[in-house]
Amino acid sequence: MIKWILLIVVAILIFYYINKKLTKTTHVWNECVECHSCGTYVVEREAIKRRGKYYCSEECLRKSS
Ligand SMILES: [Zn+2]
Repeated sequence: MIKWILLIVVAILIFYYINKKLTKTTHVWNECVECHSCGTYVVEREAIKRRGKYYCSEECLRKSS
């Protein structure tokens, strides 16, 4: 009987962990920034940040500097 209770508790913990992770991932993906050079919107973690400004590519970074 204790075995079953433990199993249910573990299952609930795993469910909450996955749920939290998914929410976090979705949140990150929605965070888009505008390229300072061409105006294209890119995901923040894929953008290049220089002097507080975001760029979509190395090319845009070179163009504006
Ligand atoms: Zn750009």
